[in-house]
Amino acid sequence: MFHKIDPQSLTRGESLGQGSFTQIYKGIKKDQGEDGHYQTEVVLKVMDGSHRNCSESFLEAASIMSQLSHKHLVLLHGVSLGKDSECIMVQEYVRYGPLDLYLKKNQGEGKVTTSWKLQVAKQLAYALNYLEDKKITHGNVSAKKVLLTREGDAASGSPPFIKLNDPGVSVSVLAKEMLVERIPWVAPECLSDPRSLALPADKWSFGATLWEIFSGGNMPLSLLEPQKKLDFYQSNLQLPAPKWTELATLIAQCMDYQPGRRPCFRALIRDLNSLITSDYELLSDLSPTEV
Ligand code: ATP
Repeated sequence: MFHKIDPQSLTRGESLGQGSFTQIYKGIKKDQGEDGHYQTEVVLKVMDGSHRNCSESFLEAASIMSQLSHKHLVLLHGVSLGKDSECIMVQEYVRYGPLDLYLKKNQGEGKVTTSWKLQVAKQLAYALNYLEDKKITHGNVSAKKVLLTREGDAASGSPPFIKLNDPGVSVSVLAKEMLVERIPWVAPECLSDPRSLALPADKWSFGATLWEIFSGGNMPLSLLEPQKKLDFYQSNLQLPAPKWTELATLIAQCMDYQPGRRPCFRALIRDLNSLITSDYELLSDLSPTEV
């Protein structure tokens, strides 16, 4: 279901990091055009063939991404099957990297204002609304999966631009410990039974990601011991409410322990559009209290 890329046309460059089962590299893809060769900057997500179930799930993620086209979704060029059953997902290279790191790095530098964060949140909601319309569950939404194509500039009013990355290996094949690591982004129903992964799970994760974005890329809960994280879900706890009441209400609606009560993305976009950043900027203490 995806475009196959000849491994010979790919050159591996510097390492960009790693995912749960993958090594990620910057790379170059060479193609033959009508008037000669041309080169494209790409990202190579390499999964070695030793994780069999995971490879299948990884290819499934690639297959889903290749059927989609949206300005706020990362573009998948195709998949390349390398030596030793290596699978390589070839994606567009997104210059400013993952949002969680960007927020941490640029907090307090005047680059990341409240309205900047709100624009990012809306763009993410548009991407998820597109998936919801197509009845496709992403299953791994967090600020780490949001990549920044354009930084934007608060002074000149040019907005940032984000792209949601592929979900990687599905929660339905991940070991329980890995799901626990994903608290509070993973929906509670998926933790009890990964087969419950469905559209409402993305709404929960979107709520957690909103919280993360507005707290500057921090998520203190994710640093707790596994048992403490499990206790959090088992006791139906909530992340501390941000002081911006309207934002807090939105997050609480997404992070409802009953999946059927979470709002659709169309409604979430409408609510995000009605948030007025000046209300937030009037508050003296902007960050939510720590968990
Ligand atoms: P997991 O299965 O653990 O969720 P993954 O294998 O799908 O992860 P990612 O989390 O998507 O991997 O990527 C890991 C890191 O690689 C990112 O945090 C980012 O730094 C870098 N990266 C991934 N994709 C891109 C891209 N398209 N452009 C630029 N950097 C990227």
